[in-house]
Amino acid sequence: MSNSFGVNAPGSSEKSGVAQRIDAIRQTVPPSVKLMAVTKQVPIEAMREAYAAGVRDFGESRVQDAMQKQAQLSDLSDLVWHLIGHLQSNKAAKALDMFSWIHSADSLKLVLRLNELAEGRSPKPKLCLQVKLRPDEAKFGWQPEQLWAELPEIDCCTNLDVVGLMVIPPYGLSADETRAVFDEAAKLANTIRQQSWQLIRMTELSMGMSMDYALAVEAGATIIRVGRTLFGDRP
Ligand SMILES: *Cc1c(COP(=O)(O)O)cnc(C)c1O
Repeated sequence: MSNSFGVNAPGSSEKSGVAQRIDAIRQTVPPSVKLMAVTKQVPIEAMREAYAAGVRDFGESRVQDAMQKQAQLSDLSDLVWHLIGHLQSNKAAKALDMFSWIHSADSLKLVLRLNELAEGRSPKPKLCLQVKLRPDEAKFGWQPEQLWAELPEIDCCTNLDVVGLMVIPPYGLSADETRAVFDEAAKLANTIRQQSWQLIRMTELSMGMSMDYALAVEAGATIIRVGRTLFGDRP
């Protein structure tokens, strides 16, 4: 059985390349780890192949790109959309309409804005707090000290579900250096979880991309965000 895109249904003998790569990752990653397909610059057909292979979690970096894709995939009602790129305050309302998860909550100001805008939403939007554990000009996010100082205020955001941390190691680290970043993120999430918060849950660790997801899973990632390994290099 195949759909109109010529994609084979799961269980059929001929699988798409995307499906084969999804299977290969799933074989090395515990079933409890959520595999998010990062689909920035990925054509709709390839996204449908990922869907046919059982992926339901899709990650996009930009609100605008995701809008177009959601319109084209509106026949698939059980997709879960994750925002993984920096969010400007003026797109925050739109982002809440389109994404059930925001992994790139990267400042107190943005979190407070999202909390205001999310009033009355059910379910509450899920947020990961993006942390920056090494100096990195190219990235947003909290350094731990600053995060600790602002967590009490974040914990008062009754319209949000703060579920965990997100981290992206700087480009160009060795495997050992990358592992150290993931271990630190896991330790930070644990330490936060052990405090008594009203609302903050801190059970998710969004970390690991094509080049380093295996290291991230070893360190305790609960969500990996994989693009190129599934879909090939971006243009
Ligand atoms: C692009 C991107 C990914 C996926 O990266 P790949 O190297 O394609 O696996 C994951 N997380 C974030 C935040 C990204 O921007």
